[in-house]
Amino acid sequence: MKKNAPLAPETLAAQGLGWEDDETGAVIRPVHVSTTFARDENYELPDGRTYIRDASPALDQAESMIAALEGAEDAMVFSSGLAACMAPFHALQPGDRVVVQSGIYFGVPTWLAEFGNAHGLKPVFVPSGDEAALLAAIAEAPTALVWIENPSNPDLHVTDIAAVADATHKAGGVLCIDSTTATPVHCKPIEFGADIVVHSATKYLNGHSDVLAGALAVRDKTDFWERIRKHRYLTGPQPGGFDLFLLVRGMRTLFVRVERQSANAMKIAEFLEAHPKVTRVNYPGLTSHPRHDLAARQMRDGFGGLLSFHVAGGAPGALAVAKRVQVIKRATSLGGVETLIEHRRSVEPPDSPVADDLLRLSVGIENADDLILDLKQALDAAGS
Ligand SMILES: *Cc1c(COP(=O)(O)O)cnc(C)c1O
Repeated sequence: MKKNAPLAPETLAAQGLGWEDDETGAVIRPVHVSTTFARDENYELPDGRTYIRDASPALDQAESMIAALEGAEDAMVFSSGLAACMAPFHALQPGDRVVVQSGIYFGVPTWLAEFGNAHGLKPVFVPSGDEAALLAAIAEAPTALVWIENPSNPDLHVTDIAAVADATHKAGGVLCIDSTTATPVHCKPIEFGADIVVHSATKYLNGHSDVLAGALAVRDKTDFWERIRKHRYLTGPQPGGFDLFLLVRGMRTLFVRVERQSANAMKIAEFLEAHPKVTRVNYPGLTSHPRHDLAARQMRDGFGGLLSFHVAGGAPGALAVAKRVQVIKRATSLGGVETLIEHRRSVEPPDSPVADDLLRLSVGIENADDLILDLKQALDAAGS
């Protein structure tokens, strides 16, 4: 990109880093779908690319955008968030000790509990709300990898990234942080010392509930990072060209979407907090959140579009509210432009620590009053 001064992330995102199609000057780059690349008569590869699994041109813009938005040296895109999550674990060595939060997105702890031993990994689980226990577990060095999610899903626990990064590095490990819920709009974990930032790009980065993708972004390219790249090359979890086209298109509007989602979420959190049938609201933007001050230091321009709340009457009370919404969709996932409500406990593994009176709300970009009225009629009617 031709530029005189460093550009703000909003500008970089909106313009897709300013990349154009070299041949035509098109401001939107073509959809690259070729799986293979021709050699010339000297048997040379004109662009150094042989096969899609190691060098898909469709990956370039998405990865460069994510690296730029995270302030990372490099990024890798995967065919799903979980494919991205699993890659660092597959790059570890047998016997490596990993410290992982529990009560986060269920995939990582569930994989470790079920397959971690077969890979020789020694997982230690610490509840996502207990930072003192997390720091103590990390300090039992050597610790090869620490996995946190911030803010956590679905309880919206906030973790002190700098403190955990410091402890992880002292123990000789790498800090991976799933920042799906914060998005690069609100938080850049690398600024706080994180080594690898993880996204389910299915969520806010794409933002339209129509692409499955994931990403890793790294502070400095290390041997470990190259090992993750090798894992991706040898196992093949890359998205196809059409999905990458949609992902780049989605990321162009990341900032306006997420800023609106966060503003809506703040209004909804305040409404819910005042409703008599709501016993607690988990949202880092509320001053009642136990780590609101920390969240305010680690996040900018809002606190994200995800929140959860506890409803009087246990699981039946929560399900009664979910059943009564009319505008909000009853569906899993998060980060799309449409608002979704979910009773997480119904879809979690049987041993899940998620409370059964909890409803998770992924707030979209609709009119906030429409959403609040919908929740109000559902809450008012539930249990009566
Ligand atoms: C959805 C999600 C994942 C998994 O991503 P997929 O794209 O569904 O594979 C991982 N972490 C968090 C926080 C998520 O919300």
